[in-house]
Amino acid sequence: MPVVRYNRYSDHLLKKYGEKVYKLPLNVPGTCPNRDGRLGRGGCIFCDPEGSGFECLSSAIPVRRQVEQNKVFFKKRYGAKKFISYFQAFTNTYRPLEQFRDDVRAACLDEDIVGVSISTRPDCINDRYLDCLLELKEVKSLDVVIELGLQTVNYRTLVEINRGHTLAEFIDAIGRIKSRNMEVCVHLILNLPGDDVLDVIENARVMSALGVHYVKLHSLYVVRGTVLGDRYERGELEIISMADYVDRVVKFLEYLDPAIVIQRLVGKGPKENLLFCNWGTSWWAVRQAIEECLEEKNTYQGRLFDYLNGKALKNLG
Ligand code: SF4
Repeated sequence: MPVVRYNRYSDHLLKKYGEKVYKLPLNVPGTCPNRDGRLGRGGCIFCDPEGSGFECLSSAIPVRRQVEQNKVFFKKRYGAKKFISYFQAFTNTYRPLEQFRDDVRAACLDEDIVGVSISTRPDCINDRYLDCLLELKEVKSLDVVIELGLQTVNYRTLVEINRGHTLAEFIDAIGRIKSRNMEVCVHLILNLPGDDVLDVIENARVMSALGVHYVKLHSLYVVRGTVLGDRYERGELEIISMADYVDRVVKFLEYLDPAIVIQRLVGKGPKENLLFCNWGTSWWAVRQAIEECLEEKNTYQGRLFDYLNGKALKNLG
């Protein structure tokens, strides 16, 4: 039997729900405070104009219909029976509370919806929005996951990439979410310009120390028309090699608490205007390279997870 070297999301869902569960991508009208001028304009230096919602249906379609249409697709294609409603694009809590509540309710009406996942920024979640979700969680017995874009724990890099928030807001959001027994998924990019291997390891250590439930990894992609795209076209952006990136992911996994589920090991870029993504190869080839590297090194998630709870006191008697 092959050795399981990292905690896969598909295995986790199978164990938790007894069968495969499919995420229904949903798109609601909105923007992001880092684009509309509240915090800044132009957004994060890598963000494409679709706000990472490039695989979604149009936001002009009511949420209820998006759920139905997506379900038809997943049922026909995969014989799916259980679903998680996934508010994917932009900053889903950056909307009036009433609108947010109505859309989340509309996405969770059916019995076969077992959970809801909501993408947002660490500075766009507060007690009111979380209490609204808590009510839904309790009334409908739903699993609620808040997906927080962080990208890196290096607060200097957060400034460099124009995130518009620091590490402090992220830590604050984690505490508020966890105090309501909701789960957290964190998005990280392990090869941001300015970050090195030490930052990658610290990403793993901080995620583990904060007890997040899931992580989603992404390698840096470059889209035309973004600040990063301009730098790339001017030859001013250095991107590490795929071999170095694979090495970083393996290191990240080694330091990560083995209980944390890897929702995504490798991401995909948008179809349009892509200047660079996954070293010109497919996302699954990058995933395969990471899995092969884990095998070759005979290593696994959590191998070096030994640093919490007073490491210096170990073996002191
Ligand atoms: S927070 Fe998300 S949607 Fe907003 S600019 Fe950054 S990547 Fe884009």
